[in-house]
Amino acid sequence: MENLETKKRAVSVGRFAPSPSGRMHLGNVFSALLAWLSVRSVGGKMVLRIEDLDPDRSKSAFADAIRQDLQWLGLDWDWESPCQSERTPVYRSAFEQLAEKGLVYPCYCTRAQLHAASAPHASDGKTVYSGACRNLSEAERAAMTRKPAWRLKCGEGEISFRDGLRGIYRENLQEECGDFIIRRSDGVYAYQLAVVVDDGDMGITQVVRGSDLLSSTPRQLYLYRLLGLNAPRFYHVPLLVAPDGRRLSKRDGDLDLQALREHYSAEELIGLLACAAGLLDEPVPCTPQELARKFDWSRVTREETVNIREIIGKMAHKPVVTV
Ligand code: GLU
Ligand code: ZN
Repeated sequence: MENLETKKRAVSVGRFAPSPSGRMHLGNVFSALLAWLSVRSVGGKMVLRIEDLDPDRSKSAFADAIRQDLQWLGLDWDWESPCQSERTPVYRSAFEQLAEKGLVYPCYCTRAQLHAASAPHASDGKTVYSGACRNLSEAERAAMTRKPAWRLKCGEGEISFRDGLRGIYRENLQEECGDFIIRRSDGVYAYQLAVVVDDGDMGITQVVRGSDLLSSTPRQLYLYRLLGLNAPRFYHVPLLVAPDGRRLSKRDGDLDLQALREHYSAEELIGLLACAAGLLDEPVPCTPQELARKFDWSRVTREETVNIREIIGKMAHKPVVTV
């Protein structure tokens, strides 16, 4: 019998959204595993979307390697959406919708100008746009020679949401970010716009991704509202870090899947990451299916970061990879 619970389960849709700018990294696999478990544990569907917005950094060979790595890990998907590079008309129409509301304007600032004008409390790496180009006259715009980027006017007030792992998160866009870019000066639509249009369009109900994107979420929620799209539920998962607390990156070549696949089986890596997530006490080999049977977000660690090498160190029979 179909009750409310089974209906709810049937409509969960999650996604993998990798950027094909390199081989998958352990941190990417960690997010992908939790995204997969979150959806599969309730019988939901998974979408794969290759986020190749940036033509300079994206390579189709990496997209192929990512598909193969996900398959090798046992993280399957039901549907692959067209790549972002094929969806420009969809982003254009969202952009035009915002422009028609009078919410978009061209920004001619150079990098140096942006840096010089950024607000003092932007020292945490975030720059707050001053709004310098918001009120340029038509004549002033016509006199500019640079190709502009396009910014979205931020509304007033605070945007808050409840993250499935991190709890309530709030941000006042005007104070902490300012009008933000939705189309770059080279014509490429910005990640913030594309990801909202894609997730909204594809009926994604839950987004599981690294905590580095937590502070992008208020901007995205603002866009969901303006475009009249349903926002998904968000889960921002811990970042994997090196023992010195530094975030792992694509430069940590020994932790990309090409290197890892030489030393580990898929079950060993899944066990390692399940342990990092708090789903297993020890990094013992297991499959995603085994984890899905017992998966529950309440069992996932609330830590902001997880020292992955400490966990690798527990796998005594394996060479401890070093940076
Ligand atoms: N493509 C982004 C990345 O690989 C992920 C974007 C998202 O999950 O919203 O970092
Ligand atoms: Zn400007």
